[in-house]
Amino acid sequence: MLYELPTPGFSFELIATLGHARAGILHTPRGDIPTPVFMPVGTAGTVKAMTADELRAEPLDAKIILGNTYHLYLRPGMEVMAHVGGLHKFAAWDRPILTDSGGFQVFSLSGINEIDDDGVTFRSHIDGSKHRLTPEVSMEIQRVLGSDIAMVFDQCPPGDADEKVHEVALARTTAWAKRCKVAPHAEGQAVFGIVQGGISVERRVRHMAEITALDFDGHALGGLAVGENLDDTYRILDEVAHLLPAEKPRYLMGVGTPADLERGISAGIDMFDCVMPTRNARNGYLFTEGPRVNIPNAKNRLDLGPIDPTCPCSTCKTHSRAYLRHLYLAKEILYARLATLHNLTFYARHVRRLRERILVDGKRA
Ligand SMILES: [Zn+2]
Repeated sequence: MLYELPTPGFSFELIATLGHARAGILHTPRGDIPTPVFMPVGTAGTVKAMTADELRAEPLDAKIILGNTYHLYLRPGMEVMAHVGGLHKFAAWDRPILTDSGGFQVFSLSGINEIDDDGVTFRSHIDGSKHRLTPEVSMEIQRVLGSDIAMVFDQCPPGDADEKVHEVALARTTAWAKRCKVAPHAEGQAVFGIVQGGISVERRVRHMAEITALDFDGHALGGLAVGENLDDTYRILDEVAHLLPAEKPRYLMGVGTPADLERGISAGIDMFDCVMPTRNARNGYLFTEGPRVNIPNAKNRLDLGPIDPTCPCSTCKTHSRAYLRHLYLAKEILYARLATLHNLTFYARHVRRLRERILVDGKRA
């Protein structure tokens, strides 16, 4: 089934379902994105250690990457981003980009932040300078960045926040979503709404009704993996994800491990992002079909085998664990490049395999 999305040029094609799991294609003006999909995180206009060519090349073949509004707004700043004509040109990336709204970073990274019903005043984590982000400012930044998918500005309370904080955040997130919806955005730029509500199913369902009524191009579950128990994360996923409108893409923000992705896909999620593969790579943790490899471990010192013999990435085809361990311990910059390429390839293959299973074992949508 092909569903036209509200923004011209965007449509969501649902191909097969297996339980709540879905395989589809998100069609965008800058290319097709087979779903489920894992989106590598390019925080500051770069997926750390990777060139655009490396991201595009098989077997990684990233179809969409993320950019962070908060980081790009602070550095290089809007004058540069407007001058260069947006993030695609700046980063030489011709495939789709999704930008977050900056909300999550303002609450988690910046120094003092003062939040009111209009927006958030915060201090830069770089130089302490004072800034203000509102729904309109966030949408304006994302307009200048020119991302293919913009996210609404939301308030994401910590996992252990009390009832009252959650209720205020819900009301604000709905009011802000309405303001984002009418704020100007770039031509051909889709906008996704965000459902908050912490670990209460009742709150999630209530907020979902408010957000889905606004007719966004897709919907995200925000505010998960922000400090709550994994059991609670999975309970919300299982009970809420499949209730999101079936004819639009569903995006789980900032989660997670390979097991989290499998659980999310089973629950009906189509899109994921997380810094885990890239950050873990730089910290020496490499994903494999078997146990995770801790590359500095002494047992890798004389190991001439690859990280993962089943992996088709050029790191595994070319280099040994012994060599990677040496590069890591010697703090050679090549290590970060080789390790990141491997971990991102692992995530891409993991999700592609799960998609394949839905196509083979599922029923046509
Ligand atoms: Zn590999």
